[in-house]
Amino acid sequence: IQRTFIMVKPDGVKRGLIGEIIKRFEQKGFTLLNAELMTISREKAEYHYMELQDKPFFGELVDFITSDSVFAMVWEGENIIEVSRSMIGKTSPLEALPGTIRGDFACSKAENVIHGSDSLLSAEREIANFFDPLSIR
Ligand code: ATP
Ligand code: MG
Repeated sequence: IQRTFIMVKPDGVKRGLIGEIIKRFEQKGFTLLNAELMTISREKAEYHYMELQDKPFFGELVDFITSDSVFAMVWEGENIIEVSRSMIGKTSPLEALPGTIRGDFACSKAENVIHGSDSLLSAEREIANFFDPLSIR
């Protein structure tokens, strides 16, 4: 059984998509372990996206993710890292298929509603960046 870090980004929170996203993960049969509406510091955002620090859009990405509240969550389930990535859909709006969260709700590559960890290692790092280990049920 795996855990993953899922975050509704500021555009998704503003558009009222928190409930829709929780609903999809619940319907899939996954278990919510913790959740919190929060605004994040630049340090936390830079650490979260550290693999992208050399990309030309890194500054804008950090600006965006710190611009308003995000809804951070820890979910648990069978193969949840791979399954949640397929539920989320591709980064590019040209490739995100209908039926996926981005395919249904996003049309921008930068503002794409939701984040999901892409590996066991990044899931552990990301969960620890956002949540106190003792707060996770
Ligand atoms: P996430 O990590 O947020 O779940 P992802 O794994 O699909 O998304 P990454 O390559 O990790 O994609 O990029 C992280 C985020 O950076 C993207 O979700 C998007 O918000 C932003 N991003 C990625 N590529 C671009 C780009 N070419 N221009 C602007 N923003 C981008
Ligand atoms: Mg990623």
